[in-house]
Amino acid sequence: MTPDFIPDCIPNWIGGKQAAAAGGEDFPKLSPHSGAELYGVARSGAADVGRAVQAATQAQPAWAGLTPVQRGEVLHEIAQGLRHERDNMAAVVALETGMSHQAALGETAAAIAQGEFMAGEGRRFYGRTSTSAVANKSAMTVRQPLGVAGLIIAANTPIANLAWKVFPALICGNTAVLKAAEDTPASAWLFGKIAAEAGLPAGVLNIVQGYGLEAGAPLVDDPRVAIISFTGSTAVGKRIAATAGERLARLSLELGGKNPLIVCDDADLDNAIHWVLLAAFSNAGQRCAAASRIIIFDSIYDEFRERLVARTGQLKVGPTDDDDFGPVINERQLNNMLLAIERARQAGATILTGGTRLNDPAHAGGFYLAPTILENAAPDAEISTTELFGPITCLYRAGDFQQALDMANDSPYGLTASIHTRSIHRATVFTQRIQAGVAVVNGGTHGSEPHMPFGGLKQSGNGTREPGTEALDVYSELKDIYINIDPGQL
Ligand code: NAD
Repeated sequence: MTPDFIPDCIPNWIGGKQAAAAGGEDFPKLSPHSGAELYGVARSGAADVGRAVQAATQAQPAWAGLTPVQRGEVLHEIAQGLRHERDNMAAVVALETGMSHQAALGETAAAIAQGEFMAGEGRRFYGRTSTSAVANKSAMTVRQPLGVAGLIIAANTPIANLAWKVFPALICGNTAVLKAAEDTPASAWLFGKIAAEAGLPAGVLNIVQGYGLEAGAPLVDDPRVAIISFTGSTAVGKRIAATAGERLARLSLELGGKNPLIVCDDADLDNAIHWVLLAAFSNAGQRCAAASRIIIFDSIYDEFRERLVARTGQLKVGPTDDDDFGPVINERQLNNMLLAIERARQAGATILTGGTRLNDPAHAGGFYLAPTILENAAPDAEISTTELFGPITCLYRAGDFQQALDMANDSPYGLTASIHTRSIHRATVFTQRIQAGVAVVNGGTHGSEPHMPFGGLKQSGNGTREPGTEALDVYSELKDIYINIDPGQL
C-alpha cells in the first residue's frame, strides 16, 4: 500500500519549493511487484530543467561562501534527518523498486553512512602546501567549487545512488540539479523534503523528475551546468559524453559491468556458491557490480554446476523480508531480458534453470523473472558481452588459472571481479592482473564502502572514482596559489 505521506503526483523540488511539471503533464509509476499504478510523476522538460538550473545558479555563491565545515554541518543534519526517517525512506524505496524492506533499510543505511562521511570531509577538505623552486615564493593548491552540478542517476539502488552524488557535490561548494530516475521518483522526492527540513538553503539541491530524453538531456546540454555526473548504462553514458564533450563540461561516468567471478579448483565451494547466489541474484541482479560471468575450473565444473543449480532452485522470489530477491524494475527491462535469453538459446546456450517470467498467483502482474543460469554460451556471444541487469548469470569452463584470468579480462567492461581460491599466490596475481576497478578475494563482485573509491575501467566508466575522498576530485577544481615575498618589506 502506498504510504499516505506520498503525494498523488510526485513533484519536482525547485528553489526550495515543490512544483508540478511546467507542461502540467505526468506519467504513471507502476509497482514492480503488482504492476498496479502507485502514483503519478511530474513529466518535466526543458523548461523545468531551466528553472532548476537557474535556482541552483542563484543559490551557489552563498552556499560556496559558507566554510566547508559549515557545509558539513548542514550535510550532517541531512544525514541525521535521513536516519530519523529511515523507516519511511525504506518503505518508499521498497515500494518503488520491489526490494524487501530489509534490503531497503540496508540501502538507506549506506546512504546515511555516505552523508556522514562526506559531512566529515568538511573538516578535512585538504589542499596541499608545496615548495617553490624560487626563493621567497610559496606554493600551495586549494580546492574550489565548480558551480552547478548536474546529477543523473539509475533506479537500481535509488537512495544510495543519490547519496553518492549529492553529498560530495554539496560538500565541495557546488549546488546541484538532480534528475531522478523515472522508475524511482518518490525516494528522490522524500530526500528533497528531508534535506529542506534539515535546513539546506533553498536552491542548493533541486530535483527534477521525468524521462531521460526529456528531463536528463536538457540538463546535459545546459551551459550553466559545470559538471555532469551520471550513473547509468554505457549506451546512455556515451551519448552524454558526446554532448558534454562538445561544450567541455566536466564529466563523471559510472556505467555498466559484466563482472566475472572465478571459482578455482581449491576454492571453498560452499562459500563460493553462497557468494555467487548473492552477487548474481540479490537485488534481482540489478547491480552494476552483479556477477554475470561465473568462470569455473574444469575439474570442479560439473559438481559446482549441480550444487549451484540446486541451491538456485531453493531461492525465494518476492517482495518480503523472507524472499531472496524481488522483481525487476519495469516490464520493458523484463521483456528485454527474456528476449536476450531466447537469442542466447538460439545461439547455442543451454538454460540450466529459470529463463521465464513468473506468472503464478503470487507473482502475477509483477515484473518477476525466475533466477536464470545458462551455460555453453560462447565467450564472445551477445549474452557474454552485454549487460542484462537482471537475475541472469552464465557459467564458463576454464582449464587453469591463466585461462580463467584471460577469460575474465576478455570483456568490454572492467568494473568489478572476484576470485575464490585458498591460494595466496592465485589471489595475489589475480588482484594484480585483473582489469577491474574492484578486485575481491573470496567474496562477491558487489559491495562497496563510503570511504572507498568505486569505479571501473574500459566501458564501465571514464576513469573517475566516486565516492571516497576521490569524489572530491570529481566535484572540485584545483587552484595553484603562488605568493611572492619581497624580503625588502620585512
Ligand atoms: P539508463 O542509462 O537507461 O538511465 C539512467 C538515467 O539516465 C535515468 O535517470 C534516465 O532517465 C537517464 N537518461 C536516459 N537517457 C538519457 C539521456 N539521453 N540524457 C540524459 N539522461 C538520460 O540506465 P538504467 O537502465 O536506468 O540503469 C541501469 C544501468 O546503470 C546499468 O547499466 C548499470 O550497470 C548502471 N549502474 C552503474 C553503477 C556504477 O556505479 N557504475 C551503479 C548503478 C547502476
